[in-house]
Amino acid sequence: MNVLRIEDISFPKQLFIDGGFVDSAGGETFPVVYPATGEEICRVPWARQGDVDRAVRAARRVVDEGRWASMNAHDRERLLHRVADLIEAHADTLALLETYDTGKPIRDAQAVDVPLTIQCFRYYAGWPSKLKGETIPVRGRFLTYTMKEPVGVVGQIVPWNFPLYMAAIKVAPALATGNAVVLKPAEETPLSALYLAQLMAEAGVPEGVFNVVTGDGETTGAALVAHPGVDKIAFTGSTAVGQQIMRQAASHIKRVSLELGGKSPHIVFSDADLPAAVKGIVSGIFYNQGEVCLAGSRIFVQKPVYEEVLEQLSTAARKVTIGDPFDSGTTFGALISEEHRQRVQHYVGVGIREGARVIEGGRIPEKHSRGYFYEPTVLVGEDNQMTVAQEEIFGPVALVLPFETTEEVIRLANATKYGLAAGLWTQNVSRAHNVARALKAGTVWINAYNLLDAAAPFGGYKMSGFGRELGEEALDLYTELKTVWTSLR
Ligand code: NAP
Ligand code: MG
Repeated sequence: MNVLRIEDISFPKQLFIDGGFVDSAGGETFPVVYPATGEEICRVPWARQGDVDRAVRAARRVVDEGRWASMNAHDRERLLHRVADLIEAHADTLALLETYDTGKPIRDAQAVDVPLTIQCFRYYAGWPSKLKGETIPVRGRFLTYTMKEPVGVVGQIVPWNFPLYMAAIKVAPALATGNAVVLKPAEETPLSALYLAQLMAEAGVPEGVFNVVTGDGETTGAALVAHPGVDKIAFTGSTAVGQQIMRQAASHIKRVSLELGGKSPHIVFSDADLPAAVKGIVSGIFYNQGEVCLAGSRIFVQKPVYEEVLEQLSTAARKVTIGDPFDSGTTFGALISEEHRQRVQHYVGVGIREGARVIEGGRIPEKHSRGYFYEPTVLVGEDNQMTVAQEEIFGPVALVLPFETTEEVIRLANATKYGLAAGLWTQNVSRAHNVARALKAGTVWINAYNLLDAAAPFGGYKMSGFGRELGEEALDLYTELKTVWTSLR
């Protein structure tokens, strides 16, 4: 392994509150583990209620004094561009932190996580000077206009699969619209958020505008959700925790936006370009070890090409290169934790008991006994009601199901509580768009999969959540609309 080690990267592994790095008041810490070896790489503070309170108060002061929201829009743009510049300048370090935190291949962290993060900051850096209201032609002699104001203090809670990018998707639009943020990264992956805090400070983002509290969900996350000084919670994570947050938010009518789980259908019609479709399926379910909310985990294949697709898919799954995440040839790293690996393995067992057949994988790779590796796994089955067809596994497990007609596959694809994304492969343009319209999902890819762009909105139908992140739409998540009436009499 010829790379920087975590010890070589010097930055404070502390909470970031009111512009400074500090320990938790109680001095408690928790370990950060490198999933590819299971080794502890460092410790970070465990923020308790009192620490969360300090961070929220710092953000509250910024909001109540109007310091950030009243900054000239062009100055705020310049600051956010400076943040993007610094992320770009520190791209290698950030990619390395992502790999140490998650166990994902460094080449993915370098090619995807960090570039998407930079694009996201740049995209929202352009918005402050373009946030406009409207003049409304009301009845009577009045000048009536709307304006967009920041929501205030925003608590942002993100998962461990794309730690930096998930944070960027939330932080960049919130800051662009003049809010103050308290970010809680996932317990497993706190490092890139702390590094980002350092870059924010270096860029000159004023004290208290951006704060990071590290800790677990049950204490640190819950304290942020319960805090009366928080105006909004933006959450990405599991549907179960999303439901809990929604219930808790009711007490203060906190604004809530939720990006939750998925069980996305990925459909191959018999007229598809099969090699391209198989490539799309493989990256749709095995990219990032399948730890992707958008993962195309239910693969529906039309009967005439079913056997052929299975064969090509098996071959492709065998070619996925599992290994040391720091090896540039590795395309498939470790799962996030032993607990998660056991969860994935449990699901494979349940699938087999319910009648699915394993045609690839389904094991812990012998070569990689250290670390939390699991083989890319392909299950085949007939029944869309099986547990493995309905519950999100959030790991490298594809389930392939056959179908006959377009009507049937639309019904099957929509027979899920989730509605985050869907993909379909066909060369028939009208079928492509008719099926895209019929699918109940926030994103539909035609002859493509897993694409995201800062300018394209993204989010869920049904129990995959509500609110759209990215694009212009995310600005609505972080603004209140005010209507002003003036008598002209
Ligand atoms: P999770 O358990 O729901 O955790 C997500 C975040 O919420 C973590 O920071 C977690 O903290 C925190 N949390 C947990 N319990 C909490 C509570 N009671 N109050 C406040 N915060 C709490 O999800 P996960 O297992 O880490 O992540 C996987 C899930 O995220 C999957 O369902 C996946 O589909 C979803 N996801 C969705 C999207 C999307 O955009 N739709 C993107 C990525 C992932 P700790 O982990 O530190 O305990
Ligand atoms: Mg957790």
